[in-house]
Amino acid sequence: MITIYKKLPKTNCGKCGMPTCIAFAIKVKNAQLKMSDCPYVNKEDNESHLQKTTVTVEDNYERVSNELESDAKQINFKEASVAIGGHFEEKNGYDVIRLNMMNKPYEMRKEGLFEDGKYCYDSWSKIIIYDYIRRKGNKSLTGNWVTLGYFPNTASHVKAFQRSAEEKVAAIFNKNMEGLKARCKEFGGVEDMGKMKADYICRFDLLPRIPLYLCFWEADEEFSASCKLFFDTSAEAYIDIEYLAYLVERFVELFVTLLPIK
Ligand code: SF4
Repeated sequence: MITIYKKLPKTNCGKCGMPTCIAFAIKVKNAQLKMSDCPYVNKEDNESHLQKTTVTVEDNYERVSNELESDAKQINFKEASVAIGGHFEEKNGYDVIRLNMMNKPYEMRKEGLFEDGKYCYDSWSKIIIYDYIRRKGNKSLTGNWVTLGYFPNTASHVKAFQRSAEEKVAAIFNKNMEGLKARCKEFGGVEDMGKMKADYICRFDLLPRIPLYLCFWEADEEFSASCKLFFDTSAEAYIDIEYLAYLVERFVELFVTLLPIK
């Protein structure tokens, strides 16, 4: 962290979304931000940081996932599964938590995270699920829907999130409401109208207690289609908000990857 901090201008200007350069350095160390998220880090410093420490983003992901894995293994699985909405069971005398992330089933065992019966080597999935389990959020839905910017320290993500997630969905499904509905169904979404004035609202469970609400407004003569993604305010109790932003970006990547359904 000190090595990273030394490369920063130390002006605490806040443009990276963090209140201080030290806070930024900690986030980089934890693989939650990249050196290039500080607009004042020049390319040479950025590259030399990577060379001198020989740490890549992938290395950081792996290190963080290993740290979180050892935390998650220590917790009481039975207690945690109640707190996070997972399913607890004893399998061959060992405790197991089953849970879905973006509609895909995972199994947390004392040896780590498993996907389709095999140890999961995807550091990214492990980081999200281990963090979710070890936090034991245990908070009811508040019913208050907010956008990502509501949560603290998200300034550096908000613009990118609008571009890479909300605007992307709006552009791809512009004048294609039926295609959007079909894609939502394909992704396990459930229509959830009534909370907000939108032409279509669909709820997805990113994780058992972390719903995502996709609100879509159709194009009219004046405006093209628009999309907003909302979270329940309780999400903060369940997951680090940086990880939540990554989770949604990954969800949208998958959601828009296939060609739109006509
Ligand atoms: S953008 Fe962040 S890391 Fe860079 S100088 Fe400003 S506060 Fe420090």
